Amino acid sequence: MSSNFPDTNAIRSQNDLAQVVGRYVELEVAGAGRLRGCCPFHSEKTPSFYLFSHQHFKCFGCGQSGDVFDFVSKMEGVSFIEAKKRLGNGALPCPTHIPAPPTLTEAKPTRSWREVLQKSALLPFEGSKGAEYLQKRGIPPEVAKRCGVRFAGNYLGRASVLFAIRGPTGKTIAVQGRAISGDAKMTVGPRKDGLFMTPGALESRRIAIAEAPIDALSLLLLFDVSAVATCGSGNLPEWFPPLLSGKDILIATDADNAGEAYFEAWKPHFEQHGANVRRLTAPNAGKINPKTGKPVKDWNDELLLRK
Ligand SMILES: [Zn+2]
Repeated sequence: MSSNFPDTNAIRSQNDLAQVVGRYVELEVAGAGRLRGCCPFHSEKTPSFYLFSHQHFKCFGCGQSGDVFDFVSKMEGVSFIEAKKRLGNGALPCPTHIPAPPTLTEAKPTRSWREVLQKSALLPFEGSKGAEYLQKRGIPPEVAKRCGVRFAGNYLGRASVLFAIRGPTGKTIAVQGRAISGDAKMTVGPRKDGLFMTPGALESRRIAIAEAPIDALSLLLLFDVSAVATCGSGNLPEWFPPLLSGKDILIATDADNAGEAYFEAWKPHFEQHGANVRRLTAPNAGKINPKTGKPVKDWNDELLLRK
Protein backbone atom coordinates (compact mmCIF):
# COMPACT_ATOMS: atom_id res chain seq x y z
CA MET A 1 0.00 0.00 0.00
CA SER A 2 1.39 3.42 -0.88
CA SER A 3 1.68 6.14 1.75
CA ASN A 4 -1.09 8.02 -0.05
CA PHE A 5 -3.49 5.25 0.88
CA PRO A 6 -2.70 4.24 4.42
CA ASP A 7 -4.55 1.36 5.98
CA THR A 8 -8.25 2.08 6.49
CA ASN A 9 -8.42 0.27 9.82
CA ALA A 10 -5.37 2.10 11.15
CA ILE A 11 -6.88 5.49 10.27
CA ARG A 12 -10.18 4.45 11.75
CA SER A 13 -8.58 3.44 15.04
CA GLN A 14 -6.58 6.69 15.17
CA ASN A 15 -9.70 8.80 14.75
CA ASP A 16 -12.12 8.28 17.56
CA LEU A 17 -15.57 8.87 16.10
CA ALA A 18 -16.71 10.84 19.13
CA GLN A 19 -13.74 13.21 18.88
CA VAL A 20 -14.38 13.79 15.19
CA VAL A 21 -18.13 14.22 15.53
CA GLY A 22 -17.51 16.42 18.56
CA ARG A 23 -16.04 19.06 16.23
CA TYR A 24 -19.46 19.53 14.68
CA VAL A 25 -21.99 18.33 17.21
CA GLU A 26 -22.37 18.91 20.90
CA LEU A 27 -22.55 15.42 22.41
CA GLU A 28 -23.84 14.10 25.68
CA VAL A 29 -23.63 10.71 27.32
CA ALA A 30 -26.84 8.76 26.67
CA GLY A 31 -26.34 5.43 28.38
CA ALA A 32 -23.89 2.59 28.05
CA GLY A 33 -21.58 3.04 25.09
CA ARG A 34 -23.84 5.72 23.74
CA LEU A 35 -23.49 9.42 23.04
CA ARG A 36 -26.07 11.61 21.41
CA GLY A 37 -26.57 15.03 19.96
CA CYS A 38 -28.71 16.94 17.50
CA CYS A 39 -28.26 15.51 14.03
CA PRO A 40 -26.01 17.57 11.74
CA PHE A 41 -27.72 16.09 8.67
CA HIS A 42 -31.24 17.23 9.37
CA SER A 43 -32.82 19.97 11.41
CA GLU A 44 -33.93 18.99 14.89
CA LYS A 45 -34.16 20.29 18.42
CA THR A 46 -34.31 16.96 20.26
CA PRO A 47 -31.28 14.70 19.77
CA SER A 48 -31.88 11.59 17.70
CA PHE A 49 -28.32 11.27 16.43
CA TYR A 50 -26.47 8.53 18.34
CA LEU A 51 -22.92 7.26 18.51
CA PHE A 52 -22.39 3.66 19.57
CA SER A 53 -19.21 2.42 21.24
CA HIS A 54 -17.32 5.30 19.58
CA GLN A 55 -17.51 3.43 16.26
CA HIS A 56 -20.85 3.86 14.56
CA PHE A 57 -23.34 6.66 14.23
CA LYS A 58 -26.99 6.47 13.43
CA CYS A 59 -29.67 9.11 13.27
CA PHE A 60 -33.10 7.77 14.14
CA GLY A 61 -34.63 10.87 12.59
CA CYS A 62 -33.23 10.88 9.06
CA GLY A 63 -31.62 7.44 8.97
CA GLN A 64 -28.05 8.52 8.21
CA SER A 65 -25.52 6.04 9.58
CA GLY A 66 -21.99 4.80 9.21
CA ASP A 67 -18.48 5.02 10.58
CA VAL A 68 -15.99 7.86 10.93
CA PHE A 69 -15.26 7.93 7.17
CA ASP A 70 -18.94 8.11 6.29
CA PHE A 71 -19.39 10.92 8.79
CA VAL A 72 -16.57 13.08 7.40
CA SER A 73 -17.55 12.28 3.84
CA LYS A 74 -21.17 13.38 4.46
CA MET A 75 -20.25 16.32 6.65
CA GLU A 76 -17.61 17.77 4.35
CA GLY A 77 -19.34 16.72 1.13
CA VAL A 78 -16.31 14.77 -0.06
CA SER A 79 -15.69 11.23 -1.32
CA PHE A 80 -14.83 8.31 0.92
CA ILE A 81 -11.22 8.39 -0.38
CA GLU A 82 -10.94 12.12 0.32
CA ALA A 83 -12.43 11.66 3.82
CA LYS A 84 -9.86 8.96 4.50
CA LYS A 85 -7.05 11.23 3.28
CA ARG A 86 -8.19 14.11 5.49
CA LEU A 87 -8.43 11.88 8.53
CA GLY A 88 -5.15 10.15 7.68
CA ASN A 89 -3.05 13.31 7.54
CA GLY A 90 -4.89 15.21 10.26
CA ALA A 91 -6.01 17.82 7.71
CA LEU A 92 -9.58 17.85 8.88
CA PRO A 93 -10.35 21.48 9.59
CA CYS A 94 -11.42 22.24 13.09
CA PRO A 95 -14.37 24.53 12.52
CA THR A 96 -14.09 27.68 14.59
CA HIS A 97 -17.83 28.08 15.07
CA ILE A 98 -17.85 25.01 17.29
CA PRO A 99 -17.75 25.95 20.95
CA ALA A 100 -16.18 23.76 23.61
CA PRO A 101 -15.34 20.13 22.84
CA PRO A 102 -17.95 17.63 23.97
CA THR A 103 -17.94 16.35 27.50
CA LEU A 104 -17.01 12.73 26.99
CA THR A 105 -15.98 12.13 30.56
CA GLU A 106 -17.99 13.27 33.51
CA ALA A 107 -17.28 16.27 35.71
CA LYS A 108 -13.90 16.56 37.43
CA PRO A 109 -13.78 15.21 40.96
CA THR A 110 -13.14 17.59 43.78
CA ARG A 111 -12.02 14.93 46.21
CA SER A 112 -10.00 11.75 45.81
CA TRP A 113 -12.03 8.62 45.29
CA ARG A 114 -10.40 6.85 48.23
CA GLU A 115 -11.31 9.71 50.49
CA VAL A 116 -14.89 9.60 49.20
CA LEU A 117 -14.99 5.84 49.77
CA GLN A 118 -13.46 5.98 53.24
CA LYS A 119 -15.78 8.72 54.38
CA SER A 120 -18.84 6.91 53.07
CA ALA A 121 -17.75 3.72 54.85
CA LEU A 122 -18.09 5.58 58.14
CA LEU A 123 -21.63 6.72 57.43
CA PRO A 124 -24.47 4.38 58.33
CA PHE A 125 -26.44 3.29 55.28
CA GLU A 126 -29.61 2.10 56.97
CA GLY A 127 -31.90 5.00 57.69
CA SER A 128 -29.84 7.35 55.48
CA LYS A 129 -31.26 9.52 52.73
CA GLY A 130 -29.47 7.19 50.33
CA ALA A 131 -31.35 4.17 51.64
CA GLU A 132 -34.60 6.13 51.47
CA TYR A 133 -33.89 7.08 47.85
CA LEU A 134 -33.23 3.47 46.85
CA GLN A 135 -36.31 2.28 48.69
CA LYS A 136 -38.33 4.72 46.59
CA ARG A 137 -36.80 3.14 43.50
CA GLY A 138 -37.99 -0.25 44.72
CA ILE A 139 -34.59 -1.41 45.96
CA PRO A 140 -34.44 -2.64 49.56
CA PRO A 141 -31.49 -1.02 51.36
CA GLU A 142 -30.10 -4.40 52.48
CA VAL A 143 -29.90 -5.55 48.84
CA ALA A 144 -28.21 -2.32 47.82
CA LYS A 145 -25.73 -2.58 50.67
CA ARG A 146 -24.86 -6.16 49.78
CA CYS A 147 -24.09 -4.93 46.25
CA GLY A 148 -21.61 -2.31 47.44
CA VAL A 149 -23.88 0.72 47.44
CA ARG A 150 -23.11 3.38 50.02
CA PHE A 151 -24.42 6.71 51.11
CA ALA A 152 -22.20 9.75 50.72
CA GLY A 153 -23.35 12.62 52.88
CA ASN A 154 -22.42 15.41 50.52
CA TYR A 155 -20.61 14.33 47.40
CA LEU A 156 -21.86 16.24 44.39
CA GLY A 157 -22.68 19.27 46.46
CA ARG A 158 -25.71 17.35 47.67
CA ALA A 159 -26.65 14.03 49.19
CA SER A 160 -25.64 11.15 46.91
CA VAL A 161 -25.46 7.40 46.75
CA LEU A 162 -22.18 5.77 45.77
CA PHE A 163 -21.82 2.67 43.63
CA ALA A 164 -18.59 0.68 43.80
CA ILE A 165 -17.05 0.23 40.35
CA ARG A 166 -15.00 -2.93 40.04
CA GLY A 167 -12.23 -4.15 37.77
CA PRO A 168 -11.56 -7.58 36.25
CA THR A 169 -10.67 -9.20 39.60
CA GLY A 170 -13.69 -7.79 41.40
CA LYS A 171 -11.59 -5.20 43.24
CA THR A 172 -13.06 -1.69 43.59
CA ILE A 173 -11.26 0.63 41.17
CA ALA A 174 -13.57 3.66 41.25
CA VAL A 175 -16.84 4.92 42.62
CA GLN A 176 -19.80 6.39 40.84
CA GLY A 177 -21.83 8.94 42.74
CA ARG A 178 -25.41 9.73 41.91
CA ALA A 179 -27.20 12.67 43.39
CA ILE A 180 -30.43 11.79 45.15
CA SER A 181 -32.22 14.72 43.57
CA GLY A 182 -31.76 15.51 39.89
CA ASP A 183 -29.66 13.57 37.42
CA ALA A 184 -26.12 14.57 38.39
CA LYS A 185 -23.64 11.73 38.45
CA MET A 186 -19.91 11.50 38.58
CA THR A 187 -17.39 8.68 38.39
CA VAL A 188 -14.19 9.10 40.34
CA GLY A 189 -11.19 6.84 40.29
CA PRO A 190 -7.80 6.23 38.71
CA ARG A 191 -9.44 3.99 36.12
CA LYS A 192 -12.91 4.23 34.71
CA ASP A 193 -12.96 1.00 32.72
CA GLY A 194 -14.92 -0.82 35.35
CA LEU A 195 -18.36 -2.17 36.08
CA PHE A 196 -20.84 -2.01 38.86
CA MET A 197 -21.53 -5.64 39.75
CA THR A 198 -23.99 -7.59 41.82
CA PRO A 199 -22.20 -10.14 44.07
CA GLY A 200 -20.51 -13.01 42.24
CA ALA A 201 -21.47 -11.59 38.83
CA LEU A 202 -18.26 -12.62 37.10
CA GLU A 203 -18.58 -16.22 38.30
CA SER A 204 -22.19 -16.59 37.14
CA ARG A 205 -23.24 -18.68 34.20
CA ARG A 206 -25.76 -16.05 33.13
CA ILE A 207 -25.10 -12.31 33.30
CA ALA A 208 -27.32 -9.38 32.47
CA ILE A 209 -25.62 -6.23 31.21
CA ALA A 210 -27.41 -3.02 32.11
CA GLU A 211 -26.85 0.62 31.38
CA ALA A 212 -26.84 1.90 34.94
CA PRO A 213 -26.35 0.49 38.46
CA ILE A 214 -30.02 1.08 39.31
CA ASP A 215 -31.01 -1.04 36.29
CA ALA A 216 -28.58 -3.78 37.34
CA LEU A 217 -30.09 -3.83 40.84
CA SER A 218 -33.58 -3.90 39.32
CA LEU A 219 -32.67 -6.91 37.14
CA LEU A 220 -31.30 -8.73 40.17
CA LEU A 221 -34.57 -8.15 42.02
CA LEU A 222 -36.80 -8.97 39.05
CA PHE A 223 -35.13 -12.16 37.85
CA ASP A 224 -32.57 -13.08 40.50
CA VAL A 225 -29.95 -12.77 37.76
CA SER A 226 -26.37 -11.58 38.19
CA ALA A 227 -26.06 -8.18 36.63
CA VAL A 228 -23.41 -5.62 35.79
CA ALA A 229 -23.64 -2.02 34.66
CA THR A 230 -21.22 0.17 32.80
CA CYS A 231 -19.96 3.35 34.36
CA GLY A 232 -18.31 6.60 33.29
CA SER A 233 -18.68 7.22 29.59
CA GLY A 234 -20.73 4.03 29.37
CA ASN A 235 -18.36 1.94 27.28
CA LEU A 236 -18.01 -1.71 28.14
CA PRO A 237 -14.46 -2.30 29.33
CA GLU A 238 -12.23 -4.22 26.92
CA TRP A 239 -11.35 -6.82 29.54
CA PHE A 240 -14.97 -7.82 29.99
CA PRO A 241 -15.99 -9.85 26.87
CA PRO A 242 -12.98 -12.24 27.04
CA LEU A 243 -14.04 -13.29 30.57
CA LEU A 244 -17.43 -14.45 29.35
CA SER A 245 -16.57 -17.36 27.12
CA GLY A 246 -19.40 -19.90 27.00
CA LYS A 247 -21.68 -17.82 29.22
CA ASP A 248 -25.21 -16.64 28.60
CA ILE A 249 -25.29 -12.91 28.14
CA LEU A 250 -28.46 -10.88 28.36
CA ILE A 251 -27.98 -7.37 27.05
CA ALA A 252 -30.72 -5.58 28.94
CA THR A 253 -31.37 -2.42 26.95
CA ASP A 254 -34.16 0.09 26.81
CA ALA A 255 -36.95 -1.04 24.47
CA ASP A 256 -36.27 1.50 21.73
CA ASN A 257 -34.34 1.77 18.46
CA ALA A 258 -31.26 3.05 20.23
CA GLY A 259 -31.37 0.02 22.52
CA GLU A 260 -31.58 -2.27 19.53
CA ALA A 261 -28.64 -0.57 17.82
CA TYR A 262 -26.67 -0.77 21.06
CA PHE A 263 -27.36 -4.49 21.25
CA GLU A 264 -26.30 -5.00 17.62
CA ALA A 265 -23.10 -3.06 18.22
CA TRP A 266 -22.08 -5.05 21.29
CA LYS A 267 -23.29 -8.55 20.41
CA PRO A 268 -20.29 -9.44 18.22
CA HIS A 269 -17.83 -8.48 20.97
CA PHE A 270 -19.25 -11.22 23.18
CA GLU A 271 -19.94 -13.76 20.45
CA GLN A 272 -16.34 -13.49 19.35
CA HIS A 273 -15.48 -14.99 22.74
CA GLY A 274 -17.98 -17.80 22.49
CA ALA A 275 -20.76 -16.33 24.61
CA ASN A 276 -24.46 -16.83 23.86
CA VAL A 277 -25.96 -13.39 23.54
CA ARG A 278 -29.52 -12.19 23.48
CA ARG A 279 -31.34 -8.97 24.03
CA LEU A 280 -33.69 -8.43 26.91
CA THR A 281 -36.18 -5.58 27.02
CA ALA A 282 -38.64 -4.68 29.72
CA PRO A 283 -41.75 -6.85 29.12
CA ASN A 284 -44.02 -3.93 30.04
CA ALA A 285 -42.19 -1.26 28.04
CA GLY A 286 -44.56 1.50 27.02
CA LYS A 287 -47.18 0.59 29.60
CA ILE A 288 -48.23 3.48 31.82
CA ASN A 289 -47.46 3.04 35.50
CA PRO A 290 -50.71 4.19 37.18
CA LYS A 291 -48.80 5.35 40.27
CA THR A 292 -46.47 7.71 38.40
CA GLY A 293 -48.45 8.30 35.20
CA LYS A 294 -45.25 7.66 33.25
CA PRO A 295 -44.56 4.91 30.70
CA VAL A 296 -42.16 2.08 31.47
CA LYS A 297 -38.83 2.78 29.78
CA ASP A 298 -36.03 1.11 31.65
CA TRP A 299 -35.60 -1.77 34.08
CA ASN A 300 -36.20 0.29 37.15
CA ASP A 301 -39.54 1.41 35.67
CA GLU A 302 -40.36 -2.26 35.14
CA LEU A 303 -39.50 -3.07 38.75
CA LEU A 304 -41.60 -0.17 40.05
CA LEU A 305 -44.56 -1.19 37.89
CA ARG A 306 -44.53 -4.66 39.43
CA LYS A 307 -44.27 -3.39 43.00
ZN1 LIG B 1 -30.70 13.09 11.16
